[in-house]
Amino acid sequence: ITIGVASETASGEKRVALTPETCKKLVARGARVRVQRGAGRAASFTDDAYVQAGAELADDAAAAVADAEVVLCVQAPDPARLATLREGAALIGLLQPQGDAARGEAIVARKLNAFPLERLPRTTRAQAMDVLSSQAGMAGYKAVLIAAQLAPRFFPMLTTAAGTIRPSKVLIVGAGVAGLQAIATAKRLGAQVEGFDVRPETREQIESLGGKFLDLGVSAAGEGGYARQLTEEERAEQQRRLGEHLKNIDVIVCTAAVPGRPAPKIVTAAMIGGMKPGSVLVDLAAETGGNCELTQPGETIDANGVTVAGPLNLASSGAVHASEMYARNVFNFVSLFVNDGAVNFDWNDELLTKTVWPERAAPA
Ligand code: NAD
Repeated sequence: ITIGVASETASGEKRVALTPETCKKLVARGARVRVQRGAGRAASFTDDAYVQAGAELADDAAAAVADAEVVLCVQAPDPARLATLREGAALIGLLQPQGDAARGEAIVARKLNAFPLERLPRTTRAQAMDVLSSQAGMAGYKAVLIAAQLAPRFFPMLTTAAGTIRPSKVLIVGAGVAGLQAIATAKRLGAQVEGFDVRPETREQIESLGGKFLDLGVSAAGEGGYARQLTEEERAEQQRRLGEHLKNIDVIVCTAAVPGRPAPKIVTAAMIGGMKPGSVLVDLAAETGGNCELTQPGETIDANGVTVAGPLNLASSGAVHASEMYARNVFNFVSLFVNDGAVNFDWNDELLTKTVWPERAAPA
């Protein structure tokens, strides 16, 4: 079989779904791997490295993917590219088929076996394939570096001949995968770090990273280890306590999300108005609308002396390691059905049936 990888079509996307390391492993599974020239360049993987790992180079996207049984990508290719794929091919990536009608239609029209990896069940067996976690880790790390860069203060405490500098107080909102990495990163930079989440089990996780758990009196564990939406009363209580607390915070990094919903609005314009001038908020949730009312996705604004940044696709800004992790996740997923140079779907395996899109019934 042929596994094809073309350059990403989404603008600004630097990551690549195949690295020389995973290329070699796929070749060892009996696959022919075809990579468009330059597909790994933005992530610092050279064409030569792919060739040494056993890949064939293709001069353009069509030559890389048109007759491939399996196509790997980070973000979904645009509909025009999708229309060139072989009918029935397996397409693996962060496809968001429902995010764009034309994209979903193109997937259906080509009868693709599309596997949007964001649909993968988060079971123990799927951990090695969990692209949401691997990419969230990079995003949480980068968000703190952006905050440190924007802040007009040091993060660490300094004792100098010019006097003592107090450490910055950093609050991380939401302590999932991205939030915990943000806490660890801010801690390494020497800040005084606090975190909060509505899932009570995060207290121990925050504390184990050296952060302090900020108790806002709201607990809202939902299904499958995720958070549920808050009731109006819970939200009001959380906001009252948070508004008071933010008056003493220098930097906020927001990472809160509820699956399948717009990001919860947690930091209001009034709260930002009550913060000290020179404070900074970096909103990782900008992609789904933001945790802060003032966030403008893709922009950095000045709100009366408080900087509010809504950076997009932060994982892509760490393209080397984000790609290495993403490509390993993808390799582990593809290993479920590529073996001995053949494609074989086990439609009794829930990792396939729960991920494939459109949904299909398991065989009787
Ligand atoms: P996510 O991106 O959906 O949400 C980020 C965080 O925001 C979550 O911790 C959530 O509780 C929090 N949040 C939601 N609403 C909030 C509010 N109003 N105020 C404050 N915080 C709020 O979550 P995620 O990072 O993808 O993962 C969430 C959970 O899933 C974690 O417990 C993680 O360990 C678990 N997980 C399990 C596996 C596995 O077992 N295979 C893999 C990955 C993640």
